[in-house]
Amino acid sequence: MTYVYDDTNIFAMILRGDIPNSTVTETDYSLAFRDINPQSPVHILLIPKGKYVTIDDFAANAGLEEVADFWRTFAAIIDGEGLQQKGFRVISNAGEHGLQEVPHFHLHILGGKALGPILAQ
Ligand code: 5GP
Repeated sequence: MTYVYDDTNIFAMILRGDIPNSTVTETDYSLAFRDINPQSPVHILLIPKGKYVTIDDFAANAGLEEVADFWRTFAAIIDGEGLQQKGFRVISNAGEHGLQEVPHFHLHILGGKALGPILAQ
């Protein structure tokens, strides 16, 4: 299946600078910022700057430089936020069953407290 990217999504607007964000770190290929509605003391969204709808879209179609940059940026965030010692959780919602709200691939990086079971129900 080929994903169709919607340029009007809110993260595309953030990348265009149309709306502000609380930036954690930025590279040529990736941007990380604080979630507007944090679910834990640390709740960071890491996105590629490229137009990928879901994690599998990114994994299948991103260039190797984008992929490398994304994961190195991820590692830098974990280190920068001091999340190794106590641990953290990474979530990427995709599509209808994943309840993805924003159709631009993002990782939720959650930490800063014990997070409980992986699923609510
Ligand atoms: P999803 O359900 O797509 O995995 O998660 C989307 C996330 O984006 C939610 O956690 C939501 O709080 C966050 N979000 C939605 N709009 C904005 C925004 O304008 N700014 C920021 N920083 N986060 C947003």
